[in-house]
Amino acid sequence: MNSVPLNDLSRLCIHTITTKPWSIEIAAKNYSSQGVSGITVWRDALSGRSIKQTGNMLRQHNLRVVSLCRGGFFPGKEPIKRQAAIDDNRRAIEEAFELGTRMIVLVCGADPAQSLEESRKQIHDGIAAILPDAENAGIKLAIEPLHPMYADTRSAINTLAQANDLAETLNSPWVGVAVDVYHLWWDPHLEDEIQRCGKNHNLLAFHVCDWKSPTVDLLYDRGLMGEGCIPIRKIRSWVEAAGFTGFIEAEIFSNEYWKQDQSDFLRNIITSYKKYV
Ligand code: ZN
Repeated sequence: MNSVPLNDLSRLCIHTITTKPWSIEIAAKNYSSQGVSGITVWRDALSGRSIKQTGNMLRQHNLRVVSLCRGGFFPGKEPIKRQAAIDDNRRAIEEAFELGTRMIVLVCGADPAQSLEESRKQIHDGIAAILPDAENAGIKLAIEPLHPMYADTRSAINTLAQANDLAETLNSPWVGVAVDVYHLWWDPHLEDEIQRCGKNHNLLAFHVCDWKSPTVDLLYDRGLMGEGCIPIRKIRSWVEAAGFTGFIEAEIFSNEYWKQDQSDFLRNIITSYKKYV
């Protein structure tokens, strides 16, 4: 199935970290004035602010607060570290509630001092521990699989199949998955796994950017949509065939783009979104 190109911005959401040099107030004003419809808030953008007032400010700019990024980082060889992660995730749920969003993205974590299997078990247990809090607050938890290059410290969940397995094992309407093209584009089972989470009503979020060749930094060298090798439009057609109608979230961490004038960068994001997503 071929997707029709998007010619409006009604489904475009931008992550605050994408325009990291801007405060959340400046980002909100500029996203809104360019017609962007949604914002995903990284927790550091809330630092030193009233979260409730910040949520109201975003809504005054007609921005939907799509999600809070991020919870997770559950594994730890030491029990004290795992408990600290659970406590921090409970705080993230409170923050999401205050902010007025209905979703937290989970970057699940990994500890190189132990096996990936052990980390995965601890991720399961960590999510299970915070599930009652998420349910009480009405917040969905989106498990985001990360590219295997991050399997040492950032996530032991590296494929959509693993994220789907975990979501299905937890079997709660409050847990689903986030599909980020940067992490998953290489996976030969991606289309099937997208269908699978769609069928189970577990497909909660869709993140876009591009994979540059060469990539010069494992974390901070993501590309603008269209400048790399990810078949973004094809993957978008898969998520839509699976029933996803939510926001398409531009999440671009880039040392290079953070050095640019952020207003120019924002205009480039919008142009690439219209052209390549
Ligand atoms: Zn993402």
